[in-house]
Amino acid sequence: MRYLDLVRGPATRFGEKTAVVEGDRRITFRELDDRVGRLGAALRARGLRPGDRVALLAANELEYVEIQAACLRSGFALVPLNIRLTERELGFILSDCSPGLFVAGRAEEKRAASLAAEVGIPHVLALGEPQELPSYDDALRQAVPDPGADPEDPELPATILYTSGTTGLPKGAVVDRLGFTARVMTNAVELQTSAADVHQASLPMFHIAAFLSYAHTAVGGTVVMLPEFDPERALRTMERERVTTTVLVPTIITMLLDCSVIDEVDLSALRLVIYGGSSIEPGPLRRALERFGCGFHQQYGMTETGGQTILRPADHDPADTERLSSGGTEAIGLEVRVVDEEDRPLPAGEVGEIVCRGPSVMLQYWNRPEATAEALRGGWFHTGDMGYRDSRGYLHITDRRNDMIITGGENVYPREVEAVLIEHPDIADVAVVGLPDPKWGQTVTAVLVGQAPADEELSAWARQRLAGYKVPRRWVRVPELPRNVTGKVLKHQLRAQLAK
Ligand code: ATP
Ligand code: MG
Repeated sequence: MRYLDLVRGPATRFGEKTAVVEGDRRITFRELDDRVGRLGAALRARGLRPGDRVALLAANELEYVEIQAACLRSGFALVPLNIRLTERELGFILSDCSPGLFVAGRAEEKRAASLAAEVGIPHVLALGEPQELPSYDDALRQAVPDPGADPEDPELPATILYTSGTTGLPKGAVVDRLGFTARVMTNAVELQTSAADVHQASLPMFHIAAFLSYAHTAVGGTVVMLPEFDPERALRTMERERVTTTVLVPTIITMLLDCSVIDEVDLSALRLVIYGGSSIEPGPLRRALERFGCGFHQQYGMTETGGQTILRPADHDPADTERLSSGGTEAIGLEVRVVDEEDRPLPAGEVGEIVCRGPSVMLQYWNRPEATAEALRGGWFHTGDMGYRDSRGYLHITDRRNDMIITGGENVYPREVEAVLIEHPDIADVAVVGLPDPKWGQTVTAVLVGQAPADEELSAWARQRLAGYKVPRRWVRVPELPRNVTGKVLKHQLRAQLAK
């Protein structure tokens, strides 16, 4: 076998240990291994062949690890779907990847049934106790496992992960068995996971954060599934299950810090908080370091590459603001560079596009040869993110290339302006975008939530803190910013709204 099987090893070594917990439900590694074998057989019995896709529309339910492990072992590509998407959005992804089987989560039976009919998916199974659809558990019970039928090919796709769609339509990043292995191993080494760990999956498993869970499963650690994120429930579960590691995004870190039970719960087992997905300001980060009192590990990464750079626990010195606001240095097995428009490496301090290569980088975008060729030109994955290295070699992510504003020939990085504006006491939330302007090319526009004062007053306040060309020329007030499930502002949507 030239790829890593998620559960076979731990089932031999830690058979009676708990592999996954969800509420009152628990499964041991021995049971998990048996069900993984059965699911592979059940899929083959329904006519699925290696390379075929299995779509999964579910919250963080107990079966998530089992379904991914079975796809990996039997050569199918799991397509985990975001439950917050509308039927139209789901329909787009399902038509794009044409799965041979659709698995519906406990709350998703109705939507799955109608989508399967609409897109023409031949088989559907539903978790839990379904009303109409065939039961997933029955299918497993009836299956006759045949380990000899599992294919060996390390280049079969293990999963197709659709990007968050922050900048447009989501694209399916194909991760083959080797890439899957690399992501799991890199995370296991970087997080130093062990069988003594209990990992709380606080973020949706349809997101790359799932690899953090798999890096625990692979070494015999326990994964605790949080089906829906609620700050109090997250904290109480951490206490009850003696959680040692968890994963959060910046918006969730703030929610936990502001949660009323944070001072009641016993988090003494917690050794590591993993975070990433978007930039976090040093202020809230320092607060979190102090309150949680455990190791912090930031990943800068994306669906297409996994974690590229890491700000490791020892890098989290509260007094070192420059390093604290960076994205860290290379994860094991990844090479990262900052390049100019001709792909020439840039010296420290100069801003360019971040590119990377390594075994965990996706094989291709599903069904999109042109986008693949464009993104992977010269053998390096082009992230579309802009950044620079500081004098100590730490990578700073300035912004997405497409969000960068060019006004009167000057480059403005919205994240920098946002970081300043959010410090204003009357600004609750803010996004900065560039809008077309006949004279300047683009004009810096701030979109605000909160009781912000009049434009002139804001301009004067901003002018004291930012170079003149970075100060927004237009101020727009909205009740709420459009955000996706991981809390990222949908700037293309915002620009389209404002252009009208
Ligand atoms: P789409 O590609 O569909 O537009 P997306 O890029 O938001 O969506 P993801 O792959 O979930 O989809 O997110 C990756 C992006 O998130 C990165 O390209 C980067 O812009 C941002 N990001 C991730 N981690 C960090 C981090 N630690 N610091 C700053 N930005 C981050
Ligand atoms: Mg992206």
